[in-house]
Order: sequence, then C-alpha cells, then structure tokens
Amino acid sequence: MKTKSLCPECLNVIDAEVYESDGKILMKKSCDKHGEFDDIYWSDASLYYKFARWMYTGNAGIRITNTEKGCPYDCGLCPVHKSSTMLAIIDLTNRCNQHCPTCFANAAASGYVYEPTMEQLQEMMKLLRSEVPPCPAVQFAGGEPTIREGFIEIVRMARGMGFSHVQVATNGIALAKSEQFCRDMAEAGLHTVYLQFDGVTDEPYRVLRGIPALKTKLRAIENCRKGGLKSVVLVPTLVKGVNDHQVGDMVRFAARNLDIIRGVNAQPISFEGRVDESERRSGRITIPDYIKALEEQTDGEIPRESFYPVPFVVAISHFVEAWKGMPQLEFSVHPHCGAATYVFVENGKFIPITEFVDVEGLMEFIEEQAEEMSKSRIGKLRAMMRIMTQGKKFIDHEKAPSVFDKFTLTNILDKGNRDSLAEFHRKALFIGAMHFQDPYNFDLERVQRCGIHYVTPDGRIIPFCSYNAIHRPSVEKAFATPLHVRVHSRATDE
Ligand code: SF4
Ligand code: SF4
Repeated sequence: MKTKSLCPECLNVIDAEVYESDGKILMKKSCDKHGEFDDIYWSDASLYYKFARWMYTGNAGIRITNTEKGCPYDCGLCPVHKSSTMLAIIDLTNRCNQHCPTCFANAAASGYVYEPTMEQLQEMMKLLRSEVPPCPAVQFAGGEPTIREGFIEIVRMARGMGFSHVQVATNGIALAKSEQFCRDMAEAGLHTVYLQFDGVTDEPYRVLRGIPALKTKLRAIENCRKGGLKSVVLVPTLVKGVNDHQVGDMVRFAARNLDIIRGVNAQPISFEGRVDESERRSGRITIPDYIKALEEQTDGEIPRESFYPVPFVVAISHFVEAWKGMPQLEFSVHPHCGAATYVFVENGKFIPITEFVDVEGLMEFIEEQAEEMSKSRIGKLRAMMRIMTQGKKFIDHEKAPSVFDKFTLTNILDKGNRDSLAEFHRKALFIGAMHFQDPYNFDLERVQRCGIHYVTPDGRIIPFCSYNAIHRPSVEKAFATPLHVRVHSRATDE
C-alpha cells in the first residue's frame, strides 16, 4: 500500500510503502537527500488485516487552520483531518521531578520553561469545549504536571468547564509523597491517575528512568486508594528486552488491585530525535508483539483474538446519536493506532469479554438498529424494542463470569449514560495499547485520523503524533521563558 511518511533526518514528507513480508507488515521509504529507511509497521500480518476491517472515516469537530503547506505541517485541525478530539492533552509544564535517561523534552534538557498561564489554560479548554461534539476528556501532562503550581485549581477549572473526564499523566512521585495531595486531587474532581508504571520489579525503571522506582509506584497507588481516588490506569512504556517479559505480571498486578486499578494501557516505545539504528531495531516493539507476549504470559487466558481496534466501537456512538438526536463522539482513529479488550477476573483466571459476548455480531446488530432508529419515530421504538429482546442473544451466560451483570450491555445502550458505563468499568479490567508514531514509522494515513490532540496556547488543536514529531519545539519556544530566569525568580521568591 502506498502512503506518505517523514524522512527521520529532515522531517520532510516522503513517499512510503507499507507491505507484507514473511508474515509481517513493514514500511520502507527513501529520501532524496538522506537515503533509504525501513522499519517494522505491524509484526503480525493476519492481525493487521483483521484490524483493517474497521477502518472508518469520521469528521473533525472543528476547523482552525487552512490547507497551505500540506499535512502534517498545517495542524490544526485543518480541513483534511478526519477525527474529532476524543482525548485532549494539555502540557502544564515541561519541568519534571524525574530525570529519565531517554527524555530530551524536559526543561533541564531543552534549556527553557514552558508553562501556559492560567488565562491561556482557560482559553485552551474553552476551545476544546467549542468543538462539535464538545471534547469530553482532558489529560494534564508535561514534564510532570503535578509539580505545576496551581495544579489542583487547574483540575477544578477543567471540571467546572464541563469535561466529563479529567485525568493526569504522572510519574507518581508527588502522589507517593502525600496522601493529602491525592485527596486534594479527588476532591477537585480528578477521575483518573494515568500512572507511568514500567514493570513489577525495579529493573525496568533503572533502565528507562535511571532509578529503582517500584516502591514509589506502590506508595502512589496506596495513597490514591487512601485519598479516595477511584481510578488508576497503569501505563507501561514497552521496550523489547527491557520489560516485555513482564506484561503478564503487570496485568496480574492490576487484577490483584481491581478496587482501584481500572486498566493497563501499554505504550510501545516511539523513538524521537536521533536514535542509534541498532538501538532502535533491538528496542522496537509493536502492538502485535505486545498482544502475543500477553497471550503467552497469561497461558492463553488473554488470547490475541480478544483484541480489537479503537474504531470497533463506532456503532455504539451511532446508536446513542440516533437515540438522543445529538452528535456523539466517534472513536474514528486509525485501526492500527491502538488495540483494546476488556477482561474479567474470576477465581484467579482472566475471562476476556470476547469469551462470552459475540462482540462482532453485537456491533453489527447495534449498527443496524442505529440505522433503523435514525429513519423515523416508529423506527426508534422498533429498534429499542429489538435491543431489549434480541440484545441478550449475543451473550453466552453459561460462559459469563458471575460478576457480569447480564443486563450491563443493554443498560449501556438503553440509557447511554455515564453511570452504566462507570458500572461496567468498575467490574472489568481494560487492557489496551497505543503505539505513538515516530519519524521512522510515521504514516500520514494514521495521523490524519488521530483523536488524541494537544491544545496549544496559540489556539490550535494538534494531533498527538504530529505535535511530537513536528510542532512541539516551535510551540514551546514561542511561549517559553529561559530556564535561568525562572530558576532565579523562584530562588528569589523563596
Ligand atoms: S495531522 Fe490532521 S490537522 Fe494536521 S495537517 Fe494533517 S490532516 Fe491537518
Ligand atoms: S496519538 Fe498517534 S497513535 Fe494515537 S491515535 Fe493519534 S496518530 Fe494514532
């Protein structure tokens, strides 16, 4: 398949080919100035084709920029973009209280401090809420967002502006230090702690973060629990040979802490900046590698068949939209960006939802009912009646875990409300992966469908992978203050 990518050296757009070889999907490309590049795109061709079935073209919820220089330089969002914001990222600071050997983006490394003001943050969030449909979820990130002055106030501001989901991506150091801080976050309305969690021993942290951090992570989780937070998602950065042998143990750790841990969302490493080729090839891991390792390390209890791409659930949005008569967010990101499943835990065993729900049949059925509903009022009633009476046939109650409420899925569709979804999430463990792109495997087809967007102080909304590959330095520098000025004024303040 022909597509467009980036030259990893000059970041110019170049032609690329995505092709199958030896059961794997590879990408190759050539830059006039910098030569040939190749990399693995997906390491399992059959899973690649399965996921490709759910390619879906959606719409952006807002147009801010024009098409001038071409994608990905026109971000954004420009008229070419095909997904609305499903999760917005706001960097609160580029300062950090951890010094990861691989990080080149923090204040210490870049020499400047990037911290949008409170007024800018408010404007940025307003912009997100003006999308159609309004962006529902925001994640504060960095640097380390918890060390930003006024962090709790910022969480409160986000809730006040109507975001129904507010989360923070954190290394957990501030949380481990203070139970009160966790309580303050809970009281301000924070929903989820998106916790950097690279493994269940100290070794992966020594390699990736330069410190043995496991105790800090455990203390952070305990303080979240005591502080009244209800949701922690473990976020491992996966690197081949460093922590891919622990993916089963990480999921088992989550299952033992199901009272507070809602999911494990792995991020296969993406290589930014200049990277030694042998380091890139030995560390590269893809979503199918993760899924295979998980299958092996759970003795087949979480098989590869249980995973589906993000746009698999688009039918649910169509259904709720037809039912409520209001635009709903479509999860229309590219099918090769991410994978997910839900598992239940019973008697120490994992039971993926796909073991007892015919998920493909159910989604087809829901899509048909959404179409029927959108035609007329009678159609609406007929479709709802069918959901009530026929929806259950997609669930095999013999195989379902006892914790599974047999009406849960019907309730979600019937009410389409947050409580039903929250109830489902309390009982199930989410297992997902998203492979952020780097200039080596960058695919314009993917980034044009991106639904994870940065919002910036200059009033733009920029897809995550485009921001990190292209736009971050110019945005940050335009709003930065030199590091020594900031350090000096802080020292004086104190
Ligand atoms: S990534 Fe999206 S917003 Fe950015 S230039 Fe491409 S199509 Fe436009
Ligand atoms: S952040 Fe990157 S990997 Fe994720 S949906 Fe956007 S383009 Fe795809």
